[in-house]
Amino acid sequence: METDALMERFIAREQGQKWTYSEHECFLCLTPLTERNRTREHVFPKWLLNRHGLWAESMTLMNGTTMQYRQLTIPCCRECNGQYLSIMEKEVATAFDGGYDEVKQLDRKTLFLWLAKLFYGLLIKERRTLLDRRDQNGNMIVGDDDLDRFAMHHLLMQAVRGGSTWSSARENPWSIFVFKCQTSEDVRLNFDYIDSFRIPFLAIRSGDVAVIAALQDWGHLENGIEVKHLAAAQQLALHPFQFKEAALVACYTLLVFFQDRRFVVAWADGQREIIPIPMPSPRVLEDAQLLHLAPELARHFNTPLEHITDGRKLITTLMEPDGTPWTLAWDGTDRFPTMTIHPVDALGEHPV
Ligand SMILES: [Zn+2]
Repeated sequence: METDALMERFIAREQGQKWTYSEHECFLCLTPLTERNRTREHVFPKWLLNRHGLWAESMTLMNGTTMQYRQLTIPCCRECNGQYLSIMEKEVATAFDGGYDEVKQLDRKTLFLWLAKLFYGLLIKERRTLLDRRDQNGNMIVGDDDLDRFAMHHLLMQAVRGGSTWSSARENPWSIFVFKCQTSEDVRLNFDYIDSFRIPFLAIRSGDVAVIAALQDWGHLENGIEVKHLAAAQQLALHPFQFKEAALVACYTLLVFFQDRRFVVAWADGQREIIPIPMPSPRVLEDAQLLHLAPELARHFNTPLEHITDGRKLITTLMEPDGTPWTLAWDGTDRFPTMTIHPVDALGEHPV
């Protein structure tokens, strides 16, 4: 029978202790690792890296450290890795191989758990590297105010092993949007990854499909907030900059509206049931609020701030001024299309 070390750790964190992470236990089930059961789980799966020629490429972590994608691994027990995670991985890989239509059909819970592992793995890696740099004695405590929702995230991830459930058929922990994308002949440019370490949010683009996901908003972004950028994006085949914009707007919206949901967690015999309290009524994101997003948009577009905003309005690559979805053809390069996009004028009449 499974011990409830998981619940013990969860409760300890709720009582103010820091969330801990160790190289000597499975990141998922927390089983102590020995020579017999120790494996490494790739944060970005091999199939994804191969697909985009990224096996030998590096990514820059948020703390400025550069690390090869293939070196991004986390400690995992043989059982989690070989059984639960590999079944999930196969299902997701098959769907992504099939492209947009198949990912759209993919079971949302499977997709959620796959995204949750990716997010958690990267978070551990970033924090770990940061702590390694600060403390050469190997302090492995992951924990600060940014990571408040870490423990709940870990608990939700247990559903991979069938160890967590949530009560409502109507309400799931996530908001997940699947988008169609344009592709380039350069496979490396068909991949993109954006996440946030303030909230459990990530966005990934691979080939002709992109997924934008809030991992712990309990459907808030999908059902509780009107975001016209996301509505427009769903009607388009996205240019990479449109994907970035949609992802950043989604993330920003969550940061503005994220309600610190309260939960009841009931547990018995290794099963944990997570019951969220009801959501507030629908709200709308004001255009003016989006101005705060300008520096972040400029950074991701790799273009000067004046291409993004005139100080009063923010450009959008997704819509005409009247909100109609705007088709932006991709030339297959990573260049910002400055020749076709200019800041909206003061009256908001000419985005193009
Ligand atoms: Zn395990």
